[in-house]
Amino acid sequence: MADLLTQSADIERLASVLAGARRVVAFTGAGISTESGIPDFRSPGGVWDRNKPIEFRDFMVSADARRETWRRGLETYPVVAAARPNAAHRALVDLERCGALTAVVTQNIDGLHLQAGHAPDRVIELHGNAHGVQCLSCDTWYPRPEIHDRVLTGDLEPVCACCDGILKPTTVSFGQPMPREPLRRAETEVRQCDLVLVVGSSLVVNPAAGIPRLGLMAGAKVAIVNATPTPLDELATLVVRGRAGEILPAAVALAAILAT
Ligand code: NAD
Repeated sequence: MADLLTQSADIERLASVLAGARRVVAFTGAGISTESGIPDFRSPGGVWDRNKPIEFRDFMVSADARRETWRRGLETYPVVAAARPNAAHRALVDLERCGALTAVVTQNIDGLHLQAGHAPDRVIELHGNAHGVQCLSCDTWYPRPEIHDRVLTGDLEPVCACCDGILKPTTVSFGQPMPREPLRRAETEVRQCDLVLVVGSSLVVNPAAGIPRLGLMAGAKVAIVNATPTPLDELATLVVRGRAGEILPAAVALAAILAT
């Protein structure tokens, strides 16, 4: 009972912060998609419990690492491909339709924000997207399932059909430089906003996790909706502990009422 009362007070506080903001940037991580069935990185049973990440350098120099990447992809990609946006993704779309949300900056590679129905130019994917594969030599792009079909029929280290170059999923690996353009856009958006709404991120993966901090330094408030503590909690205007799919829809709906 006490927990329920605390959560409802937190939701009211979050709604009031949202209603008072003119430019909101949502900053999301793997935690917003766990309720869609995609495990996050650091929770028990998450990706790190099962597999050590393959570093970009190893992928480039080792055929074994590339084979292992495709082998893991056959296991993990179907989970991402089958996932659908949940109530938290949809609440952010509602926030955009109210006119307050200027951008969703995401560390996620699942494409669920776009699938939820945001204007495509509002979604900034810092770590790429799992649904594509690209040649690292000539940039030819392939749908991921097409390359997985080749792996399944015995082509264990598929190369580009145009130039024999190395193929890689269009996600950013550990140790791989982040694409500059999304990072630049995210920095611009966050410097201009008055509220950064962090949802489902442990805020420990850099440089992406530095984005909310940049907003803070530029004068924005930070509100955090996350199941567990983050390094930015102490500096945040508001921290709401719990499940994003329960908290966000209620807070966004109440904010819409408060703003009228
Ligand atoms: P993370 O795993 O480090 O942190 C996720 C956070 O979300 C945790 O603090 C956890 O307590 C919280 N959380 C889990 N379920 C939640 C829920 N229902 N409601 C609210 N909070 C919840 O994730 P990160 O900070 O995004 O960093 C991990 C990296 O892993 C990112 O770079 C991302 O690209 C990648 N990743 C992406 C996906 C995806 O696209 N869905 C999944 C796993 C990992």
